[in-house]
Amino acid sequence: MTGRRVTVIGGGVLGLSLAHQLAAGGDVVTVVADREGADTVSAVAAAVWFPYRSGSPSLATWLTRSLARFTELAADGAAGVDLREGTVVERRPDVDRSWAAGVPASRGATAAELPPGALGGVRATLPVVTMSRYLPWLRARCADAGVWFQRRSVRSVEELAPAADLVVVAAGLRSGQLLGDDTMYPIRGQVVRLANPGLTAWVIDDDHPDGLTYVVPRRDDVVCGGVAEVGSAVTEPDPETERAILRRTTELVPALVGQPVLSRAVGLRPGRDAVRLEHVAGHAVPVIACYGHGGSGVTLSWGCAEAVAALAAGG
Ligand SMILES: Cc1cc2nc3c(=O)[nH]c(=O)nc-3n(C[C@H](O)[C@H](O)[C@H](O)COP(=O)(O)OP(=O)(O)OC[C@H]3O[C@@H](n4cnc5c(N)ncnc54)[C@H](O)[C@@H]3O)c2cc1C
Repeated sequence: MTGRRVTVIGGGVLGLSLAHQLAAGGDVVTVVADREGADTVSAVAAAVWFPYRSGSPSLATWLTRSLARFTELAADGAAGVDLREGTVVERRPDVDRSWAAGVPASRGATAAELPPGALGGVRATLPVVTMSRYLPWLRARCADAGVWFQRRSVRSVEELAPAADLVVVAAGLRSGQLLGDDTMYPIRGQVVRLANPGLTAWVIDDDHPDGLTYVVPRRDDVVCGGVAEVGSAVTEPDPETERAILRRTTELVPALVGQPVLSRAVGLRPGRDAVRLEHVAGHAVPVIACYGHGGSGVTLSWGCAEAVAALAAGG
């Protein structure tokens, strides 16, 4: 035990991963969050390990570390993590393939594996996370590691100072409000989840001419998306957007035609031009920020958790 008292603001995938990492290192950790599980943006994530709409110079390290951690977790059936093969479709000649460098056995997709109009693509086996199982599983692992939970809203970091030696702000889109950072913006996403007719292969088609398109089969459903509406904070699903998503995804994966809708969801991705992961001075208690993961919060979660633990330890 370090004996250090750490309060983590946020019970989404970042807050829980950080809490687990810090508690495993011997800290006495409390997670304070006003929303948990299904009520978080994290629950809306598709969720494939793939960098989308996030930036940071440390991205490569965080990606690699998270990939390694999720690959380990796939061995535990209860975690809700599966390694599944799928295709990233490319429709521009200048697509950044650097993410694939650290993915074992990734390769160029063959013409037969690509939809009409594609210029190329990558075929890879990646972690797919069924968030409805993973978030409760991760929360339970936190509790096993001694993490305490408080369900409440925090108005300022200062109110936590008396009971904490360190505060970590992992509050997603609302992190900026807590630290006077006005560089955050919502990137609205919308998904519709269909019954799974037996699919396992995922497809990500970011540059589909009619809009961002992805199909992610999970254990209990198939997530069909999507949109990435920068600046929109509308939290209701839009029926026309859903119809357009279903048109694109059924064209891409005809086996989905006629599958019943199981659920639908909207999530506001925590947009920021770069992930903020650093010490923040000027508060009554030492503070570390960890937010702004855009469309890659799951993908980066374990890498960022390790980076926060290293920062907290003085690294
Ligand atoms: C449609 C869609 C698809 C996506 N697909 C993927 C994907 O395939 N792969 C991927 O990696 N990512 C994906 N993402 C992105 C991913 O969901 C986010 O990057 C991630 O969930 C952000 O996690 P977070 O923990 O930072 O925030 P959140 O999940 O939003 O959690 C924030 C937490 O902070 C708490 N909080 C905030 N303010 C306060 C306060 N003042 N007081 C108390 N508590 C507070 C909230 O209650 C909550 O517990 C997707 C997102 C969407 C919307």
